[in-house]
Parts: sequence; structure tokens; C-alpha cells
Amino acid sequence: MDAIHLAEMRLTVRETCIECGLCVMACPVGALREPGAHELGRPSARVGGRYDLVVVGAGPAGAMAAWRAAELGLATLLLEKRQEIGSPVRCAEGVAHEALLQFLEPDPSWISARVERAQIVALANGKVVERWQGSGGLGYVLERRVFDRVLAERAALAGAQVRVKTAVTGLLQGDGAVCGVVAEWQGQRIEIEAGLVIAADGIESRVGTWAGLNTQIALEDAMACAQYLLAGIDWDPGCLGYWIDDEIAPGGYAWVFPKGDGRANVGLGVQADQTKETPLAYLNRFVEREPALAKASPVTLVAGTVPVALPCRPLVTHGLMLVGDAARQVDPLTGGGIINAMSAGRMAAQVAAEALAGGDTTARGLMAYQEQAERILGRRLVRNYRLRERFPPARRASRDFVRLFAVAAGGK
Ligand SMILES: Cc1cc2nc3c(=O)[nH]c(=O)nc-3n(C[C@H](O)[C@H](O)[C@H](O)COP(=O)(O)OP(=O)(O)OC[C@H]3O[C@@H](n4cnc5c(N)ncnc54)[C@H](O)[C@@H]3O)c2cc1C
Repeated sequence: MDAIHLAEMRLTVRETCIECGLCVMACPVGALREPGAHELGRPSARVGGRYDLVVVGAGPAGAMAAWRAAELGLATLLLEKRQEIGSPVRCAEGVAHEALLQFLEPDPSWISARVERAQIVALANGKVVERWQGSGGLGYVLERRVFDRVLAERAALAGAQVRVKTAVTGLLQGDGAVCGVVAEWQGQRIEIEAGLVIAADGIESRVGTWAGLNTQIALEDAMACAQYLLAGIDWDPGCLGYWIDDEIAPGGYAWVFPKGDGRANVGLGVQADQTKETPLAYLNRFVEREPALAKASPVTLVAGTVPVALPCRPLVTHGLMLVGDAARQVDPLTGGGIINAMSAGRMAAQVAAEALAGGDTTARGLMAYQEQAERILGRRLVRNYRLRERFPPARRASRDFVRLFAVAAGGK
């Protein structure tokens, strides 16, 4: 008993350990474990019977898909590999009011700040060449740690099963179609059968690739990001700030998204093939350069990648649909993807219900999702991708590009 000591979430085992196994039970997150069934060579456990729909990933795309599917009466399972849905946050958390209203009423519990103004500053060779200011369009900076969890809670309330700390590690396939997933849960390998699978596993998506879909991203279509939550900033709390500056953020842009109480998400994205240094090195330089930010303190640092590619095509295969960042449904000009992810998740769930009811879950039966996604989201995404191509990084500090960017950022 004396051999284990738990302090500040650190479990230490002393030399007096007699391997009684108590530490395994004491570990609050299950990081310590005894060999699982599969490690002992036993067959993997089959759990939970059969679901109509398994959704992989509980970000906005997956949670929305599970919520809608459960509302439509599908036996739905939502699997998330992290132990806390929505955390850590890898997002600047900006959304437009009108876009959000399609899904749910804004709630103070998951909104950090209301924003009604925006400014864009474009610089070339260290000099300001364009300035744009706008007001009137209402938007929010979310608290995604809560927002994502609330979406998953809505899914659960509608009847979906939600499981955290359950990583999908493979697919079940039979007769050339996806018919379930293999997951790892508490050290055990489990197989879960499903009529359909929705892959909502974000930028790092592997599920689509396992099913034979092309989800590769070229370096020039990936935006490498670093972001601080800065406390103690001197910044208009109702205004979003954007900087287009090839020296500070090559091929991308820098942002300040206020979060209330003198805090803001301050970050930048750099086009992965254009960088000479890490995104964090660019970010430090940006923060030091801006007087409104230089005296503030970083209280959180996050890094992440945004796909600014053309959406995947096809989006469906036999028994599986791709949604959200996994499908590259992100605005290539702004990197905004929360609302697109939610729209795609909802569309895919609707088509899942129809396909299951009609008994056709082949790629043909799921094609209605691809058609809708391309009609409702895809046209804008393709247009903004082409605009990004038309304005290579060196030409973005121009009036034309700033105007295009302002329109795209307004609808984020
Ligand atoms: C720095 C940064 C700033 C951004 N700022 C904005 C912004 O201001 N506004 C905006 O609209 N968008 C923004 N985005 C983009 C936005 O965050 C994404 O578009 C959005 O989160 C996509 O939602 P999703 O559900 O598709 O993917 P995600 O939110 O990435 O969710 C995917 C989930 O799948 C889980 N998962 C992955 N693999 C597995 C597996 N094998 N098994 C189980 N679970 C798995 C992950 O843990 C994750 O929870 C930003 C992105 C970054 C990186």
C-alpha cells in the first residue's frame, strides 16, 4: 500500500512495490493497466451488438451527425478518442451568428465574446498598404471546450450512445463494404458492427484512407498554426483583428479573436510549404511587434493544422461517409470550418437515415450526401480555393484580396 503516492496527478511507485496491482485501480485516467484480453492472445470482445450508425470523432461534425441521426431514430454510437470532448481546443473559435442559428440558439455557457466589428490590416515589406474596417455583422468567439461537449450532450439526449477515450483503430469490412469499426477501449480491442460509418475524425483522419478514399493533402494546402490565449491585452473586446502580412504569416494570416476579460486567441497560420521557421517563431515575432499584445501573457499555447484544400472527392464509399475536416470542408481563404462541419454532419445523418431505410448503403445509395455537400458547401469552397490560387502569397497585400477576404471572414 505504501508504495504508491498520488500528488498533482502524478503517480509515483516506490521501490517497495510488491506488484499488488493497486496502482492500476488508483490511476484516475486508466493510463496504468494490466494486459488486456487481446494481449493475452484471447479473441477480441464484441460489444454493444449492432448499431445503425457509428460516428468516429466527436468534434462539431461528428457530434452534429450523431445528434441528427439519433433524432431520426437511428441506433447511433459516437466514439471519441480523447478523454474530454472539446479539449484541448485547437481553434480560434470564431463563428457568425446567422450561421450558428441554423443549429442552435446561442447560449452564454459556451460563448466567450460577442463581436460586432472587424478590421483587416495588410502589410507589404513591413509597411501598411491596405486597411479595412467593418461593423454590423454579429459573431461570437466560442468556448469550444464547452460548445463541443454540449453538442455531444445533445446527441446523447436524443438517444445516441457516446463514448470517450475510445480510439477507432480500424474498420470492419465485408463484401467490399465497410460494416463497422475496430476500436480500442480501456486497453481492449473491440469490434462494433454498423449499418453505416461516418468518419468525422478531423484533419488527422485515417478512417477515410482505410476505406480507400483519397484524403491526402499537399503541403501548399495545409496551414500550420500556432495560437496563444493571451491574458492582459489592450484590445477592443468587440472587434476581430486580421493581419495579412507575408513576413509575419507567409501564405496565411494572423488573428486576434477577443475572449472577454482582457483575453484573446492570438494566433497565425502559415502555408506549410512557405515556412522557414516554426509557426510559433512567427507568432512570437507578431506578438512582440504589436503594441496591443506585447505586454500580455500567454496562458495557453496550441498548435494545429487547417486543411485549406479542395474538398475530398468522392466523399462516400460503400458503407461510409466523410464529413468536416476529414473531408476538407474548410474555407480555403479563412480556414473556418466549424459551421461547415456541422452542416456536413447533419446532411450525412439525414442521408444515412434514408439509405438505411431504403436498404441501399452502397456508394450509390449515399451519393445524395455528396451531391448535397457539393451543392450547399462545395461551390463556395471550390471558388475560394481558386481565389487563393489566383492570389499567390506575394499578391495578397492588395485591395482586391483584402475585400475578398473580408467577405469570406464575415461568413465564418
Ligand atoms: C488554430 C486553428 C484555428 C481555427 N479557427 C477557426 C475559427 O475561428 N473558426 C472556424 O470556424 N474554424 C476554425 N478552425 C477550424 C475548425 O477548428 C475545424 O474546421 C473544426 O474543428 C472541424 O470540426 P470536425 O468535427 O470536422 O473536426 P475536429 O473538431 O478536429 O474533431 C475531430 C475529432 O475526432 C477525434 N478523433 C480523431 N481520430 C479519432 C479516432 N481514430 N477515433 C476516435 N476519435 C478520433 C478527435 O479527437 C477530435 O475530437 C481552426 C483550426 C485551427 C487549427
